[in-house]
This record gives sequence, structure tokens and C-alpha cells, in this order.
Amino acid sequence: MSTDTPVTDDTVRDVVIVGSGVAGLSAAVYTARADLEPLVLEGPEPGGQLTLTTEVENYLGFPDGIGGMELIQNGKEQATRFGAEFTHGTVETATLDEQPFALELASGETLRTRALIVATGASARWVGADGEDDLMGYGLSTCATCDGAFHRGDDVLVIGGGDSAMEEALFLAKFADSVTVVHRRDELRASDIMAQRARDHDAIEFRWNTELLEIHGSQENGVTGATLVHHPDGHPTAKLDSSHEVDRETVDVGGIFYGVGHVPNTDFLAESPVELDDAGYIRTEPGMTTETAVEGVFGAGDVMDPDYRQAITAAGTGSMAALDAEAWLETRDVAETAAQPVVEVEAEAEAEVEAND
Ligand code: NAP
Repeated sequence: MSTDTPVTDDTVRDVVIVGSGVAGLSAAVYTARADLEPLVLEGPEPGGQLTLTTEVENYLGFPDGIGGMELIQNGKEQATRFGAEFTHGTVETATLDEQPFALELASGETLRTRALIVATGASARWVGADGEDDLMGYGLSTCATCDGAFHRGDDVLVIGGGDSAMEEALFLAKFADSVTVVHRRDELRASDIMAQRARDHDAIEFRWNTELLEIHGSQENGVTGATLVHHPDGHPTAKLDSSHEVDRETVDVGGIFYGVGHVPNTDFLAESPVELDDAGYIRTEPGMTTETAVEGVFGAGDVMDPDYRQAITAAGTGSMAALDAEAWLETRDVAETAAQPVVEVEAEAEAEVEAND
């Protein structure tokens, strides 16, 4: 599998895909099959969020489920088979106001491309609790839809007070014995309707003014418990080093889910003409398209989707971005070819004038 394609300053690619999660890989399969020889740039989280989950049970076509990592590896093999190339690199800035587009990488190299597919995803926010690095994917998860079904009969915690946390809690309540929403304040950020649904559910309870300090367990045994901290004025972890008295409590739980929001990976677009919404997600043009405010730049996957955020929808928008990029390149090719005779006619006319002089 080609993963180390060198980046050269003088090559202008037809298509560069930034991001190697399911959206980027789907775009790679489609653009490679269209003979566009895409280069996929694998960033700081190669393979994207799916590599953080153990089993994917809701991706169409895998009746027995498939490992997140395996799904990504399969996608990479599939794209490579059709001629996609892969290289590692993080885009620091993107110059998108002229053709070809230029992507300046952290390594100092520059990539040039006619069409750009941005599939950099969104990273789930982590809380910063002790143990989370070791236990993510081993009972600690950022995706109830992906991992909830592994917690039948467990007591689980959901961290957060927004719509994501309510959604996670409601989903988990189908499987878990009990779901405890741990929120750092005494007021939810979630919409009234989502908050009410969670409050009305018998299996869901709330721990107010409480935060997760430490996660207990091991990769062999999964999550086994947690240390929670509580202060009546909220934000207890911020008060740990001060004179406030913060209560600590150890709870036995079989799973912990983070629902503290996602951050779209669009920092490198901040100064570019690509439009972002207030939360940093790429704005695509109205209607069913992946076109952005910049012609030739297309958005795919979670980086342009604050709502659905499923592997299968990311794959879908990846294929859409590829088809949109292909159509856009064809339009440009036609325009450039149509422009050619004019140039030739002018050159011929100039040559004739020179000959007559
Ligand atoms: P959000 O609205 O930003 O909520 C994040 C929650 O996590 C907040 O309650 C926040 O606490 C808490 N939090 C953040 N960092 C934390 C930390 N380090 N430790 C503990 N708690 C932390 O994010 P979201 O819930 O993902 O929603 C994002 C957007 O998507 C919203 O517009 C939402 O309406 C939308 N959405 C809609 C649906 C739906 O309608 N079905 C589902 C999901 C998301 P504070 O409240 O104290 O800041």
C-alpha cells in the first residue's frame, strides 16, 4: 500500500483530498476510479474517528459488524487498488484564492492541486480526565451509537449537558441498566425538548455540578469505575487547587461516554475564502451538494455535517464530493479547451502581422 508518496513543489494534482477518515477514503475511491489519481493527505489522526471505536454495527453491508480500524484499512486498500496515493502531512494554511490551490504543510512542503476535497472531520472533545488516553475504545467512548450496544445491563456515565449528551443518554438507555448524566453545572445547555426527554426517562438520572476526574479500569477489563468530583457552585475540577472544599466519590460503572461536543478540524481554513459557520463547520452551498464558497473546493464528512455525523453519511458525502469535483474539473477542461482556439487564432493573427511588417 502506497503511504509515502513524496510531496513535490512543482507537481499540480487534479485532486488532493485532505483527511483519511471514511469521507476522505470514499472520495478517494470515487476520484481514483475516475482516473483523477487523487493524493490523500493523512493528517494527525489517520483514519479519523472510526479508529477510536471497536465495533461498527450500523454500517450497511456488514451483518456481523466490522471493526472501525478494519473498515478504514479496507477503505484504504480499496482506494489504493484504483490508484489513489497516500502521504502523511498536516495542512497549516491553504491558499485558495487562485488556481492552482496551494496547501502549505507543517513540514514546509507545498502541495498544488486544481480541485480540493476537505474531509478533515471533527474531533470529539475530550474531558481531560486521568486514564482517558489508555481507556478510549476500551469502555470509554465518544460515540453511543457506535458502542452503546456493548453496554447491555451496565451502569454507564454520560459526560456533558448539551444535545449530544442527551442524545447519547437516550440511546444508551435502550441498553444500559442505568445512565447517569454528569454535568459540570446545574443547568443543561441542551434544547428543552431533548432535555425533557432525558429527564422523563426512568433509566436516566442526573448528577449536577459534578465532573469526571479519573477513569478506572484497564484495556483487559475495560472501564470499571470513576472518580467524580462535586461542588455546589459547579465547575468542581477548576476548584481542586483552591481553598474550596470539593467532594470526591468513587462510582462503579461499566462504561463512560463523552458528549461534550465536537470540534471541526478547520483551523487551516480560518483565513481562507471558504465560509465556515459559527462553530467552524464548512458551509456548503444550499441544496444537495458539497460545493463550498470557493469553486473547486468541496467539503465532505463531519467537517461539513454538524447534524448526522455517522460513518455512512460521511462515506456518502465523500462520494458526492468526488462526483462534484469530477464534474467541476470537466467543466474547467471544457472551458480551457474552448479557450484554446482563441489563443491560437490570436497567435496566428500576430504572426501574420509580423510577416507583413
Ligand atoms: P454543546 O452544545 O457545545 O454542549 C457541550 C456540553 O459539554 C456542554 O454542556 C458543556 O458544558 C459540556 N462540556 C464541554 N466541555 C466540557 C468539559 N471539558 N468537561 C465537562 N463538560 C464539558 O455541544 P453538543 O451537545 O455536541 O451540541 C453541538 C450542536 O449540535 C448544538 O447546536 C446542538 O443543538 C446540536 N446537536 C443537536 C442534536 C439534536 O438536535 N438531535 C444532537 C446533537 C447535537 P457547559 O454547558 O457548562 O458549557
